[in-house]
Amino acid sequence: MEKQNVPEIFGSLVFDDRVMRARLSDKIYNSLRKTIDENVKLDDDVAEAVAVEMRDWAIEHGATHFTHWFQPLTGVTAEKHDSFITPSPDGGVLMEFSGKELIKGEPDASSFPSGGLRATFEARGYTAWDPTSYAFIKDHTLCIPTAFCSYSGEALDKKTPLLRSMQALDKQAKRILKLFGKDVKYVRTSVGPEQEYFLIDKEMFDKRPDLVYTGRTLFGAMPPKGQELDDHYFGVIKPRVSEFMEDLNTELWKLGILAKTEHNEVAPAQHELAPIFSTTNVATDNNQLMMEIMQKVARRHGMVCLLHEKPFAGVNGSGKHNNWSMATDTGVNLLSPGDTPYENAQFLLFLAAVIQAVDEYQDLLRLSVATAGNDHRLGANEAPPAIISVFLGDELSAILDAIKEDKPYAGTEKVQMKLGVDSIPHFSKDTTDRNRTSPFAFTGNKFEFRSLGSSNSIACCNIMLNAAVAESLKQYADELEKADDFEAALHELIKRVITKHERILFNGNGYGEEWIKEAVEVRGLSNLKTTADAMPRLLDKKNMDMLISHKVFTEAEIQSRCEIMLENYCKTVNIEGHAMVEMVRKNYLPAIEGYLYSLAKTTSLMKSVSDKVKCNYETSTMERLSELTDYIMDSVQKLEVALEDLKSYDDIIATSEAVRDKVIPAMDTLRGYVDEAEMLTSERYWPFPSYGKLLFSVN
Ligand code: ADP
Ligand code: MG
Repeated sequence: MEKQNVPEIFGSLVFDDRVMRARLSDKIYNSLRKTIDENVKLDDDVAEAVAVEMRDWAIEHGATHFTHWFQPLTGVTAEKHDSFITPSPDGGVLMEFSGKELIKGEPDASSFPSGGLRATFEARGYTAWDPTSYAFIKDHTLCIPTAFCSYSGEALDKKTPLLRSMQALDKQAKRILKLFGKDVKYVRTSVGPEQEYFLIDKEMFDKRPDLVYTGRTLFGAMPPKGQELDDHYFGVIKPRVSEFMEDLNTELWKLGILAKTEHNEVAPAQHELAPIFSTTNVATDNNQLMMEIMQKVARRHGMVCLLHEKPFAGVNGSGKHNNWSMATDTGVNLLSPGDTPYENAQFLLFLAAVIQAVDEYQDLLRLSVATAGNDHRLGANEAPPAIISVFLGDELSAILDAIKEDKPYAGTEKVQMKLGVDSIPHFSKDTTDRNRTSPFAFTGNKFEFRSLGSSNSIACCNIMLNAAVAESLKQYADELEKADDFEAALHELIKRVITKHERILFNGNGYGEEWIKEAVEVRGLSNLKTTADAMPRLLDKKNMDMLISHKVFTEAEIQSRCEIMLENYCKTVNIEGHAMVEMVRKNYLPAIEGYLYSLAKTTSLMKSVSDKVKCNYETSTMERLSELTDYIMDSVQKLEVALEDLKSYDDIIATSEAVRDKVIPAMDTLRGYVDEAEMLTSERYWPFPSYGKLLFSVN
């Protein structure tokens, strides 16, 4: 690959601050900046001026079309392209783009999931420009990041509630900072999402209908080599993968995405890409784009990028780590321990807010990452369990213990902890103590939420996290604003919160059986194993009340989201079930039969030649395979019945429970028999490439 000038290409396809500053008049620029930074409403004439410059810039960079780019509840992005052309009187065309077209679009909302909102509200929807996320050019199209709402203002997308949750947190965090004598313009949450994925050869992919239909393998016996040697993690990157990564980085950099760290992951063919963190809203848009570009670039290199959480049984699945923190406009990270005890008191208060939020809204965090795909990971010994707990590390835990018990903190001078803020000790930032098994770990100056699946939009968990932390902060602000002695009240508050929410803190091995027992039986933490268990919790009163009171969702939006997510779960499994039936009936059973025929024929031929031959291999294989075909037949029929039976429910919660209790177990049983048959059948007869071929296909 030729040499690249990275600073030059970085952001070259983005209408970013540099472009705005260079192309817009000072007046227009400042007014747009105020909208971006402080949520001030945008004037029409500003929009008009921005539209003109955006259009000219886009055309200079080869764009012929524009689109409002949005994130409907399907989990992927949507776009409808319009060209800039408008007829001119002389029979030619002009390239036009107005402020109105920039600000508002009207895609047909009726084909996107709305979960009942459509019945309650109007079918039409509109998209509204989100100036806080820069416009960019992709495939000769100017893409304008937008929110997607119904005409009555109900959110039909993931961006709208995310922006609302960021506002909620901003509002409450500023109240807290005021109490510490700090008047900041805004507080924003930032996220750095680490993205895992698999790369497999396109030719192999095309031969597997399960991958084509569902993104994961529904069958497949384990290859002799999996991940047991730990030789892939951080291993040397293969040349073909390395070329892909280079190409991918270039594409992402052009789009202003801060692609930074790349390495091989634990499983064969598994890799990771992490960008440098940015504002949550932008990080979310960028992560959606990143997933799209990864898939596109992989195709260019004759490979397919699998973003499914569990493409292969028996080797690790793919997740996404949501590194999250809160920072002020002046760049102060509120989750960074300070240099003075006073700063540390502020840090501990924000820390307490997160601890309380995670404890009180464990269920919301769990359900924010719940999908049929991610259910395969959470709770298996590779990803954090479905139980949410917080890891703080030894030093912070010791400090919190000292505060809780009014004891001196051993790490520093002997200080009495009960004397108010001044006594909160200075302590060092500790980033070394990592516990990879914790779903929610403090890593020095941020929290890392590790339960996300690789294909999840990061919007969902950040909506819940921001809202829940806003709620803790609101309670603290309400209390502390009334306090006569701020420092004493602060100390008491921190102590109380830590004591009350201690049960969510866990530094041990989150993968162990003992933890699951302790978490559930002793600590009373929730263990929502599947999407069917988790999603209905969204409708619990405490969750609805909190989300509605911070104006993150309306009641109707919550109901619709629960329905859409459960529908998605049911549909996904339903497709998988039908794909299995098809593969078994059309391919696996006939293939095994072909092999049985060959074995039977061989045996009788051999025996006709000599009565000394025993044909042990042939007969024993035939006997077991024939037994297996009976089991397979029986299980495929049971699966068909379970799938058919789904049609008899009209309630989505009941349907999802039937999916969990009937369909998925039937799929598992069927798979077990087919995978065993694979081990006994000659490769020449087996209709699809094996796991070995898929996992070691890229060299
Ligand atoms: P790991 O060891 O888990 O790979 P890294 O230190 O490489 O962790 O960081 C992972 C991600 O965390 C990166 O995307 C990084 O930019 C992000 N990150 C670092 N600091 C912050 C912060 N203050 N807020 C949010 N994300 C952050
Ligand atoms: Mg990480």
